[in-house]
Amino acid sequence: MPDYVFTPPSTPSVRVHGGGLFPVRRIFCVGKNYADHVKEMGGDAKSDPPVFFTKPADSVVESSARIPYPLATENLHFEGELVVALHAGGRNLKTREEAGALIFGTAAGCDLTRRDHQAAAKKAGAPWDSAKGFDQSAPIGEIGRSQDFPPGGFDDAHLITTVNGERRQDALLSTMIWSVPEIIIALSAQFELKAGDLIFTGTPSGVGPLSPGDNVKVTIGALPPLRFKIT
Ligand code: MN
Repeated sequence: MPDYVFTPPSTPSVRVHGGGLFPVRRIFCVGKNYADHVKEMGGDAKSDPPVFFTKPADSVVESSARIPYPLATENLHFEGELVVALHAGGRNLKTREEAGALIFGTAAGCDLTRRDHQAAAKKAGAPWDSAKGFDQSAPIGEIGRSQDFPPGGFDDAHLITTVNGERRQDALLSTMIWSVPEIIIALSAQFELKAGDLIFTGTPSGVGPLSPGDNVKVTIGALPPLRFKIT
């Protein structure tokens, strides 16, 4: 045993559909990946390189959780997203095939956002950490293995977010600006990716605020749905 001065925290993990736990190393997120959401946030959908930010690994929350309304915000927003889970790594990848080989599976996730912090950070040119990387900000459903849920089979799939049963987001995954392999290639030009990395791939339009008592559900095609309740 290493000479730790106290017991190290346990490794955050996400359940895999059919059994097993996916150990989480890092959580990367894409900032702007659906043209209609870029517009609703006041940007334009020009094809600049994708914007990346991160969340701490221990911000993951399993499906069916009850998530306390976060501290220090009056404008918590949901962002339903496709999440990609990697079981291998690499840096400076060049081809879709190299990128695709890293994918273990996919899941329905929600990039919870303190929108008031994000607006203040944008205005001040300040970091996004407090807007995006807060406690329990990354709820994620069971991961579907690629052999059961082929990543290439999602183009006709819809990402649907409901709040208290009301449909708030509904978009074809094929309307992403950057495809999953393109995201992996671009990320690998900036970071060495490793097994255990999760990538939140961006949200379509329809984001909005959550209040205590709200029940959120994110479904993506046949993937196991993500459900959680804000308390
Ligand atoms: Mn997002």
